[in-house]
Amino acid sequence: MIAGVLVEIANKSVDKVFDYHVPSSLENDIKVGIRVSVPFGKMVLEGFVLELKDSSSLELKDIIEIIDSDIVLNKELLELGKTIQKRTLSLLISCYQVMLPKALKARRGKEISIKYDIYYALNPDYQSELLLNALQQQIVDLVKQNKSVHKKELLSISSSSLKTLLKKNILIEEKREHYRIQYQTNSIEKKELTDDQKKVVSAVTNSSNQTFLLYGVTGSGKTEVYMEIIDYYLSLGRSSIVLVPEISLTPQMIERFQRRFGNQIAALHSGLSDGEKYDEWRRISRGEVSIVIGARSAIFAPLQNLGIIILDEEHSDSYKQSDANPRYHARDVAILRSETHHCSVLLGSATPSLESVARAQEGVYQLLELPNRVNGRSLPQVSIVDMNESFKKMRGHFSLELLEAIKTCFHNHEQCILLLNRRGYASFVTCKNCGFTFKCPNCDITLTYHKSSNTLRCHYCGYGERVYKECPHCHEKSLNNLGIGTQRIEEELKEYLPDSRIVRMDYDTTSKKGMHEKMIESFKNYEYDILLGTQMVAKGLDFSNVTLVGVINADTSLNIPDFRSSENTFALLSQVAGRSGRSEKEGKVIIQTFNPDHYAISYAKEHDYLSFYKKEMEIRKHLKYPPYYYLCYLRISGKDASYIFSEALKIKRSLERNLEAVIILGPSNAMVFKVNQIYRYQILLKYKKDEELYSVFSKILEHYQTNQKIRIDIDFNPSQVL
Ligand code: ADP
Ligand code: ZN
Repeated sequence: MIAGVLVEIANKSVDKVFDYHVPSSLENDIKVGIRVSVPFGKMVLEGFVLELKDSSSLELKDIIEIIDSDIVLNKELLELGKTIQKRTLSLLISCYQVMLPKALKARRGKEISIKYDIYYALNPDYQSELLLNALQQQIVDLVKQNKSVHKKELLSISSSSLKTLLKKNILIEEKREHYRIQYQTNSIEKKELTDDQKKVVSAVTNSSNQTFLLYGVTGSGKTEVYMEIIDYYLSLGRSSIVLVPEISLTPQMIERFQRRFGNQIAALHSGLSDGEKYDEWRRISRGEVSIVIGARSAIFAPLQNLGIIILDEEHSDSYKQSDANPRYHARDVAILRSETHHCSVLLGSATPSLESVARAQEGVYQLLELPNRVNGRSLPQVSIVDMNESFKKMRGHFSLELLEAIKTCFHNHEQCILLLNRRGYASFVTCKNCGFTFKCPNCDITLTYHKSSNTLRCHYCGYGERVYKECPHCHEKSLNNLGIGTQRIEEELKEYLPDSRIVRMDYDTTSKKGMHEKMIESFKNYEYDILLGTQMVAKGLDFSNVTLVGVINADTSLNIPDFRSSENTFALLSQVAGRSGRSEKEGKVIIQTFNPDHYAISYAKEHDYLSFYKKEMEIRKHLKYPPYYYLCYLRISGKDASYIFSEALKIKRSLERNLEAVIILGPSNAMVFKVNQIYRYQILLKYKKDEELYSVFSKILEHYQTNQKIRIDIDFNPSQVL
């Protein structure tokens, strides 16, 4: 027997199936889709078995061993990987690796163990006439009654008796897998749906193989709708995937699903350890759960017989993998899988992406709406503070209006969320005297200031240095810490409201496992008055006692030189505003901005998605951006800047020769031009049809396949063009 194996090395020249002989000792266990280790040149590599066949004329090497007993990549995933490879032009091996948790990727190195519970059963050969003492007899009786008993329980009776019984071979050990995460059984919490909600549910459940866009304002009961739809498919014996952006995949969300569906769910997100992810994945692939809730890569969860795939906050750019190959979008994968499973896809958002709304208007997606909050609660009142006017009356970063509102909220025993918009924004150190700023010596980027360690750090390569008082350029003691961090805001707040209890949530404070969960839980239990944080506080949270949301600086995300900056700002402001007034008490929102007249801000104030959409569409049309044109971003990089630039020019010319009706921009310096001593150029393509694109790109990639000096990355439909 011969096995075709795809090995772990991510390199175009070996990204194909190599044949190996299957030794007869492994013939019974070998299957398509499992991992094996094989000799490869002088190395031993891991790889996936992609095919099995009877003979091959060549002299072949033997497979060394089989790594898994269960199949890792089932037929559907094997096919899906090939499709993703074609669409993203990345390596097949990367397309498979991206689907799997770390513990199941083909990769030598640290193994993740399976945990076991130890049980004891009676040896069937045991002769009961053997003489036992009282404790031994007690143990034997207990085991007899229950067939097998957990080690802990027997130890608590008598550890020495247990030892003796084992030594005498009266009891035998039974190992059972122990999953690291245990879910409670459900305590059904069904709400009677509103008429609007019912309409959405029945539209979806009466369909098959259709993509829906659910446009529902914040607090309109989308999540409740998702659960009802999932329940429906559960009753038909069909499974579901719910994707949520990582940031909103909070314990709150998981708990809500767990209360309704108990141990039918598996959760996959970055807060889990590798072992936990490994266990969750195995529960899924063994068919022990019917519902998977997770972040982007959970779209690959190997569920059988899918009934529905849901993407909550479908506009979120976290659904696009943009920092590594394959640069896939979870929405596209969802639609691919729905075709295989003949199921529907539901995209939900209070601020859907322009692309999705445009598709709904063309009838590609079916539009569903939840225009009102449940129980007729109104959307919160939003007021804008013009910082150009208020500047003189500011106390630190707080306008008097915002500060007053926070105080009132505090005295009314209500809670408040404060957003520090740090998208595309970081604190950096500059010299007031000569204007010097600290830059990373390896990368073309300003170093950011970290107060806790008093260091400057590069967010690209990790380079760090200490901060000194004196400017290294002009030697004046005039260094100035620009930009605001959450720490600074917290200090200010403590000064104005010394009695308030503040919890600060940002990248630094939540990096430790479990911290994010803990903070949310304590805020919910009213152990804090103010939740202060970055984007993390904007999404998905549902606290009934929050009546005030304050945005300290709405503008930073507007200033990013990306064509989606208005859309992202509008979405962020609408999302965070939606955290206010979600239950009986009325909510209020205050936005501080230097651009009160910018349409992203004024339409967010009015909760007017439709007007924002129309205005933004005009601009996109005028500038030939999505959804009017597709974009493709080519990054060409290498150590020798002038060589790379000249190759980039050649690539551009070849694109021009071979593509019709495509707008080609560049090559130009990438926004971050130098990273880790590597120079980066970019070419941007705008196009309406992609038929010829793939073959033209493939030829270019092939041409450079063995050239070590140059690297080409392709990103179709990039989430940003920085
Ligand atoms: P969204 O996901 O659109 O923000 P949620 O599903 O979180 O909205 O609903 C907002 C709040 O309203 C939640 O606290 C939820 O429990 C509650 N809710 C949703 N649907 C109903 C309903 N039909 N009856 C009563 N309360 C509901
Ligand atoms: Zn760097």
